[in-house]
Amino acid sequence: MSQKDFMVEKLPDILDLELQKLEESYRKGNLKFYQNKFVKALQFRKSLGKIEAGTMVCFGDEIHVIRGFPKIRRTLMLKESLKSHFKGKVAVEEKMNGYNVRVALVNTKILAFTRGGFVCPYTTKKALEIMDLTPFFHDHPDLVICGEMLGTNNPYVSHYYPEIGEIGFKIFDLREKLTGEPLPVNKKRELLSKYSLPPVNLLGIYPVSEAPSKILKLVKELGENGREGVVIKDPQMVLPPLKYTSSQAHDDELEYAFKFPFDLGKAFMFSRVIREGFQSVEMQDSEEELEKRAHRIGESILYPLVETIKHVAAHEVAGEDLVMDAESREEVDEFLQHLRDLGVVAVLVEYEDGKAVIRRVHQSTTDKIMNYLQGGLY
Ligand code: ATP
Ligand code: MG
Repeated sequence: MSQKDFMVEKLPDILDLELQKLEESYRKGNLKFYQNKFVKALQFRKSLGKIEAGTMVCFGDEIHVIRGFPKIRRTLMLKESLKSHFKGKVAVEEKMNGYNVRVALVNTKILAFTRGGFVCPYTTKKALEIMDLTPFFHDHPDLVICGEMLGTNNPYVSHYYPEIGEIGFKIFDLREKLTGEPLPVNKKRELLSKYSLPPVNLLGIYPVSEAPSKILKLVKELGENGREGVVIKDPQMVLPPLKYTSSQAHDDELEYAFKFPFDLGKAFMFSRVIREGFQSVEMQDSEEELEKRAHRIGESILYPLVETIKHVAAHEVAGEDLVMDAESREEVDEFLQHLRDLGVVAVLVEYEDGKAVIRRVHQSTTDKIMNYLQGGLY
């Protein structure tokens, strides 16, 4: 059966979606055929009905549907949101700062998908190096491992964790193929422990009434240790989780965004400032604490901006250097090609001793700053 026939005859039933909706999505380019050396699939570039963006319908001997990882809503005021959103108890997990990966067994191959549903060669290789996944998938071929790729040799989101170092992986969900249904928190942790797979930290299980004050304290400590925040989950995983992050995480993201102000600044700024405002109120900042918060946020906006303007003034491009491990030059080239397929502008700076430095170029920032430096009007 051709892929087009499959889409018309089988897919509506498999996904419980009207053919007309699928065809419309396909016409608009939101549903695309995807092929690389790992897999042939249909990729959902945007969500469609209940089907999340990033969902992949993989072809082969069997059809395997890997659902996109659902968006996690954010709370700005823990006390009120937790009370209205959850019942009974909540499980508080640490939120790790890296990039989202789904690992699944697809027709005999273990593949790692990034958020949008791309099979990343680097992530696939690293996931298999970091974890022995064969026993788990032998027993549970219909589960998808959802986790975060972490560490400094991480070409998407580089962040240092003392317990991770250069590269590592932590698992936060186990979900069913096709439905995307998650296992309850306890069941997930039991299975991970049985197969010696690495879970994210479980920081506690609290009654909803006690959770907000515990979480505020936890998040303060996490922030002071350069860590991102928490994801608050219904232990049964029936209700959707919520996320809540530290002041330091907000400032880190602002700092990053204002290194590349004309590529990222605008989209990042408003929401991070809003988060800080509500957090200051809920944490009942003293005058002194609020002043510290204000200084930190100001510094994380202005310092990187000034640095980048000076950088471009010295005729350098605004870019960020990413480090990856690579056993061969072919591996580096394959990853660079993968980035290009994603529309990322990146060049190789150096490849030495099994490490590659890749420069991701932020073109709008470079061009605009250069123009203003030469007197262009804003
Ligand atoms: P989203 O699309 O979910 O709004 P985002 O791409 O903006 O999110 P984040 O703000 O980092 O990303 O928050 C959600 C992400 O947090 C998840 O997609 C997942 O990759 C990551 N994450 C880290 N730790 C956990 C955890 N313990 N439980 C669930 N997700 C986690
Ligand atoms: Mg994240």
